[in-house]
Amino acid sequence: MTKPTILTVDDDPMVSAAIARDLRSRYGADYRIVRATSGAEALGVLAELVLRDQSVALIAADQRMPQMTGVELLESARTHAPGAKNLLLTAYADTDVAIKAINDIGLDYYLLKPWDPPEERLYPVVDDLLGDWRWANPDHTSDVRVVGHRWSDRSHEVKTFLARNHVPYRWYDIEADAEGGRLLGLAEATAADLPLVLVPDGETLRSPTTLKLAAALGLRTRAEQPLYDVCIVGGGPAGLAAAVYSASEGLSTVIVEREAPGGQAGQSAAIENYLGFPKGLSGSDLTQRAMAQVARFGAELVLAHDVVGFEARGPVRAVLFEDSGEIEARALIVARGWPTGGWRWPGSTSSTAEASTTARTPARPASVRATTSTSSVPPTRPARPP
Ligand SMILES: Cc1cc2nc3c(=O)[nH]c(=O)nc-3n(C[C@H](O)[C@H](O)[C@H](O)COP(=O)(O)OP(=O)(O)OC[C@H]3O[C@@H](n4cnc5c(N)ncnc54)[C@H](O)[C@@H]3O)c2cc1C
Repeated sequence: MTKPTILTVDDDPMVSAAIARDLRSRYGADYRIVRATSGAEALGVLAELVLRDQSVALIAADQRMPQMTGVELLESARTHAPGAKNLLLTAYADTDVAIKAINDIGLDYYLLKPWDPPEERLYPVVDDLLGDWRWANPDHTSDVRVVGHRWSDRSHEVKTFLARNHVPYRWYDIEADAEGGRLLGLAEATAADLPLVLVPDGETLRSPTTLKLAAALGLRTRAEQPLYDVCIVGGGPAGLAAAVYSASEGLSTVIVEREAPGGQAGQSAAIENYLGFPKGLSGSDLTQRAMAQVARFGAELVLAHDVVGFEARGPVRAVLFEDSGEIEARALIVARGWPTGGWRWPGSTSSTAEASTTARTPARPASVRATTSTSSVPPTRPARPP
């Protein structure tokens, strides 16, 4: 794949050389850094790139340029490279113009000049913008392929799991796509094997369980430790936030999530009311940022396990998985959002609803204060039946 382009636009040759040098030293291995010295030249470069089918990841433009300002250029560039991220380099006096551009043209970020040291002022911003761009523009050469029936529930579940975990995939309906039939024949698969999931460089998965699929994709499905300070059930916004606070206090923390991080919010196209994001952000952006923060503080995310209950074991609690695994923790936080059904207790014939709004937390060390989100912690099950 050709490297995506980062285009810098500045009429001052010294500044233009400096920004190109700083960007090249950090991103040169993965991106092509192209310079333009005016808005008109930049639009010409963009037109050329579009005709050659080359993608533009970022346009970094200076605001104060003759003939065409940075904001005017970025607005015009929308027609050439609609998916590119926009960064405006401004002087302090132009801050109001930059803020207005966030609303008017959807400016992604503005950066006050000078940006030295780039490690502190430039790279974190560009990392973030390029991370978002990569997320929205995956490389299709490594796509997973899914072959199945359009109306099959399991095919739908597999596709949803892949999409929610941001795994790019190509879908082949065996009734509509000749390629689907061809892949089915090559795998010598029968109807019972559907959906077939072909992971690049991996084995052919035949009607895989979610756990097996997650493991084949290299997603983490096992906890690294047998015992944690804090175990959080549910990886929606509440669970991810709890993990950040817990891990940032130095507590060993694990999140158990049955589907994908981000919860309901992860499916939102635009969240406008999240504090700190004046322009709003998509649910997948929010999830990506939260996951980066979770990872930075060293909290673990264990996927594809449905928690079905707890078990008291002296000072710790075991979190029990549907598929017989478990994790022990000193404190539990239940953040499973809007429950779609009662909590099922293993060994019980009835389904137990989480009706209580009183947070009854299990035993915990004095230093750990467990909190709950929308769900209360259900009573711990005294002992696991034989
Ligand atoms: C399409 C859409 C758009 C939205 N837009 C907005 C908006 O713009 N602004 C706004 O304020 N709110 C919005 N919301 C609401 C917002 O997403 C929710 O309020 C928020 O996600 C709740 O967060 P949560 O972490 O408490 O629960 P959830 O997001 O529901 O997360 C709970 C997580 O727990 C997991 N889980 C549940 N049970 C188990 C179990 N037994 N074992 C393991 N894991 C389990 C689930 O898979 C899920 O990932 C939107 C919701 C949707 C669906």
